[in-house]
Amino acid sequence: MAGIYLHIPFCKQACTYCDFHFSTNRKNEDDLVEAMVKEIEIRAKGWDGELFETVYFGGGSPSILSISNLEKLLSATRHLLRISEQAEVTLEANPDDMSSENLIGWKKLGINRLSVGLQSFQDHRLQWMNRAHNAEEALECVQRAQGLGFDNISIDLIYALPDSSLDEWKNELAIAARMNVQHFSAYILTVEEKTALHHQVKKGMLQPAKDEKVEEQYRHLCSWAKEMGFEHYEISNFAKKNYRSKHNGNYWNWVNYLGIGPAAHSFQNSVRSWNIAHNINYIKSLQKDQLPARSEVLSKADEFNESIMLGLRKKEGINTTALHQKYGPHLGEGMTLNLDDLTSWHREMLEVELGTWKMKESAWLLCDEISAALFYSD
Ligand code: SF4
Repeated sequence: MAGIYLHIPFCKQACTYCDFHFSTNRKNEDDLVEAMVKEIEIRAKGWDGELFETVYFGGGSPSILSISNLEKLLSATRHLLRISEQAEVTLEANPDDMSSENLIGWKKLGINRLSVGLQSFQDHRLQWMNRAHNAEEALECVQRAQGLGFDNISIDLIYALPDSSLDEWKNELAIAARMNVQHFSAYILTVEEKTALHHQVKKGMLQPAKDEKVEEQYRHLCSWAKEMGFEHYEISNFAKKNYRSKHNGNYWNWVNYLGIGPAAHSFQNSVRSWNIAHNINYIKSLQKDQLPARSEVLSKADEFNESIMLGLRKKEGINTTALHQKYGPHLGEGMTLNLDDLTSWHREMLEVELGTWKMKESAWLLCDEISAALFYSD
């Protein structure tokens, strides 16, 4: 079982907070798609016999690709790789691209899951984020998709915005509740370097939300999600029964994945590789039949630490028995999965059951801090 990620590195405009790899210059769209098809051809040999259960178009903004280019990519994956007939095929879509024409085209291609970048239902917030859509489009696009037969839809929301209040967040969630979607992701606004947001914060033009505000909004999110029948299965992800994201689940569960496109990462049996984050150089390299990628073999310590970090982000937590069996012989004493080694503060954040350590939902925001305390050190 494996997953495929296709990175489409184009956007209409740069969102204030975004540090993903994308370009607003879309002149090379056709060449880039050709290069991605070539990359699939080259890499397919190394994935012989693997059954792919998820295909995920992410970005950037995959929904700005023409239907014919999306079709080229999907048919290359279907011809060159073994894709399960029941595969989850997700497209990240922005509301401004979700016209009836596109939705019908995506459905015909076999896209059976949409991940919609709504972010907010308020015009002034969307403008501040420099999103390409407005509140009206945010409200209409999901309904349109549902009307055309999409029955597996996820929406993205951002909270803890500067100067935001709990009431504002409550209103956003009340609107989201009416959309009747199967899944949603809620992200805290983070200030990433080299973004317009970072520049504004550095210049003192605005201040990120204070920790108390973030916590208050997070607490409301958790109780609202429970009331609405969503399972909080990962720190930022919530699903109705049977609608967890299979593709993202692969990342968190160490399932192999193949990444295609500029800046895409792949992971296969302890080897991680990543493509160059530069559209033109990516195209040039593949025109010469060369993979524009570098790779590394993860050490046992890297694997152990990542297992902790990813495990604590999940509802299921980490299986300490399995980790001890797998890494104990390699890492020995440096493994700190012993409750006695933790401070009482750390222990309070965890729910400890038979061979399993989980973060308490109320403490999930401190996940990185707790993970770091458990990391391997020699
Ligand atoms: S549309 Fe998505 S990828 Fe593109 S700039 Fe905005 S947040 Fe980033």
